[in-house]
Amino acid sequence: MVRPDASSLPLRLSIRVGALAVLVLHTVVGCAHAPAPATPPPVVVLEGARVFDGEALSGPATVVLEGERIRAVGPRGSLQVPANAQVIDYSGRTIIPGLISAHSHVGNVSGVETGRSFYTRENISRQLARYAEYGVTTINSLGLNPPLFYTLRREMIRNTGGADLHGAGPGIGAPMGAPPARGMGLEDDQVARPETAEAAREAVRDMAARGVDMVKLWVDSMSGGLPKLSPEVYRAAIDEAHRHGLRAAAHIHDLEDAKALVEAGIDVIAHGVRDRPVDDAFIQAMKARGVWYIPTINLDEANYIYAEHPAWMDEPFFRAAVSPALQQRFDSPQWRRETLASPGAANARKAVALNLENLRALHQAGVKLGFGTDSGALPQRIPGFAEHRELELMTQAGLTPAQALRVATRDSAALLGLKDQGAISPGMVADLVVLDSDPLQDIRNTRSIHAVWRRGVQVRGRVTPE
Ligand SMILES: [Zn+2]
Repeated sequence: MVRPDASSLPLRLSIRVGALAVLVLHTVVGCAHAPAPATPPPVVVLEGARVFDGEALSGPATVVLEGERIRAVGPRGSLQVPANAQVIDYSGRTIIPGLISAHSHVGNVSGVETGRSFYTRENISRQLARYAEYGVTTINSLGLNPPLFYTLRREMIRNTGGADLHGAGPGIGAPMGAPPARGMGLEDDQVARPETAEAAREAVRDMAARGVDMVKLWVDSMSGGLPKLSPEVYRAAIDEAHRHGLRAAAHIHDLEDAKALVEAGIDVIAHGVRDRPVDDAFIQAMKARGVWYIPTINLDEANYIYAEHPAWMDEPFFRAAVSPALQQRFDSPQWRRETLASPGAANARKAVALNLENLRALHQAGVKLGFGTDSGALPQRIPGFAEHRELELMTQAGLTPAQALRVATRDSAALLGLKDQGAISPGMVADLVVLDSDPLQDIRNTRSIHAVWRRGVQVRGRVTPE
């Protein structure tokens, strides 16, 4: 946040420097052989960019980084900075907080294939680096995670090579139900499928003990084709999650399931309602209980939009996100023809229209929104690009660019309980995206990435195909 009143900032700076000196002293005392550090900790000054504070853009500003955090923000020229600070001129550019996806997946996809065999450290590291390249600095892998997740989360919850990794562990689905194991190449250790309430509690206890950020549930009969998680089982899972201080998020498709889950105490509806228009009872229940809603509009759009080949598919920003195998599919005239003619495409168009309509109603009513796309769950849900497309789709549902950006930063941080991410203000982690163009003029300007900073270090420049 840019403070118009800069008079208190030098004081704030001196207090923080004082606290840091104490910290350094502790470190030196703790290690008898280490000489006292000769140089103060690195201070980086980002000079001249306009800064998005969650509501509006500031005028030209100065952002001071110290270590991995933002130390101060103020109008350009208003802050005292150390003489030896590294100064970077970002005049004319715009800085937004790193984007935070509360609904993505890792380790499910390689090229045009999906399956358990892709849940590897190497593949996931590459995917997290891709997210960071696109300015998505934190992701929440919302289910389908086998036990390797627990190790990777410990290592990558504060990642330096890519986006921070949070997640839900495996999640809970119905036996033989959603998420469909066969269609997605899932194996038994990627989804818990308890048959009883007690088994559901046991599954949640196991996830909590091994380390998750959230508990994921799937409540969807897939148009009546599969058994659905029973209310008895999901009520037990939600209650057990809450006993462990964890939020519970549910995959849904239909309004009736969403309503029943809100009644059962769910914290996050992780997809848009796509079978019918939401009604006032649902809106009021969401508001009364403070339930979050993540629309994931791009999910259904991705089932047809690439076959239409819109002009942006030829831009480097898109092509850099697409694997060679997926690009080959998109380039195939036969694939495009068959996809556009398929019943799935027609259904997906209806789902997108309903999702947009419902998002408009929920947003106007003031329901809390989170940001996510389900990127990484299937090949066409393209990590990095999907998030920028989702921002654009949210504006098609009536959010202003500033409102969409706020959902994708500050609000998503709140959904995930991340108190020091999602905003540009003193004390926050310095996860920043520097843009060449103003995203409040046109939300598609979030694609004009100039640089990405992770924890106070510039990790990426412009997005370019390899
Ligand atoms: Zn998902």
